[in-house]
Amino acid sequence: MARYRCEECGYVYDEQAGCVSEGFPAGTHWADIPDDWPCPDCAVREKPDFIQVESR
Ligand SMILES: [Zn+2]
Repeated sequence: MARYRCEECGYVYDEQAGCVSEGFPAGTHWADIPDDWPCPDCAVREKPDFIQVESR
């Protein structure tokens, strides 16, 4: 499972947790999220602007 961070506001999308409020249940892979999905926190950046967070 990977995580992706919004460069604008620091919001992190975690595949393991999903984003239920956005309609993505836990375990939703990044690849299954639409490319035009905006960041739920700042709504400034969209999916292609997110960067992958190093997994630990
Ligand atoms: Zn953001």
